Amino acid sequence: MMLYAFYALLFTSICGYAFFHGRFLKTPITRTSIALVIAHPDDEVMFFGPTLAELTRSEHGNVVRVLCLSSGNHDNLGEIRKKELVASCRAFGIRESHVTILERDDLKDGPKVLWDPSLVGDQMNLFAKKHGIETIITFDEKGVSGHRNHIACYVGLTYFIQTFKAHTPVKTCYVLKSISLLRKYISLLDLPFTMVMTEALMPLFSQYLGLGGAAPLAGGSNSNSNPGSLRPLELLFVSSPKAIAQAKGAMEKHESQMVWFRKLYVIFSRYMSVNELRRVM
Ligand SMILES: [Zn+2]
Repeated sequence: MMLYAFYALLFTSICGYAFFHGRFLKTPITRTSIALVIAHPDDEVMFFGPTLAELTRSEHGNVVRVLCLSSGNHDNLGEIRKKELVASCRAFGIRESHVTILERDDLKDGPKVLWDPSLVGDQMNLFAKKHGIETIITFDEKGVSGHRNHIACYVGLTYFIQTFKAHTPVKTCYVLKSISLLRKYISLLDLPFTMVMTEALMPLFSQYLGLGGAAPLAGGSNSNSNPGSLRPLELLFVSSPKAIAQAKGAMEKHESQMVWFRKLYVIFSRYMSVNELRRVM
């Protein structure tokens, strides 16, 4: 019985992947100035690889910048990790001048270190103003792995939205949806669960079923009342084999982090091939 269930899951995953990867889910985020805000070097690829691979494709015309709030100096490897982040971003076509790494005593890397939300929000605001950022992407309230610094990115974003919404070039903010531990390490076998649970595919199904929902995938609004933005409430990025290889190549740049369990992570993590983003502004 379990074996049949596994075969069914495998079959659905293969069909889902064949149907969805890249070809049908064109991103509605184009010609936009984007900031990916992360807590540590390697977050950009361990968690946001599919997002970066898609948004940095040249045909979309986006300008993607990375704001890393710490140098990841918890193990005194900050200087090495900064270089690794730049190299990893380069693998996604992001040039060095578009990578900003903060090194502040009040934003130190550490699983037990609490970051002040107002400080994180202020940094987002300054960065957005300096670079004319229109879209911010960061972690959600669970921070994927539950790391306090990841969660601080979300709490800081909440502060940023509440405080600066009326005075910022930022029109939309997305957060990376955290999934349960059971789904986290089954790579593309998670695709059927994602397809059932995500709202990102609703416009596509509506379009194919003739329910008149084609607009949002092309960049139209789907019920969010923010007049400054016409973005969907959820986005789904399913990497093509080429994009998965690109993310793996970027991960290899983080040499100082490639211990045995991270090598396993690269093989089994669903975040290396699938990202779901939820809009919060
Ligand atoms: Zn991290």
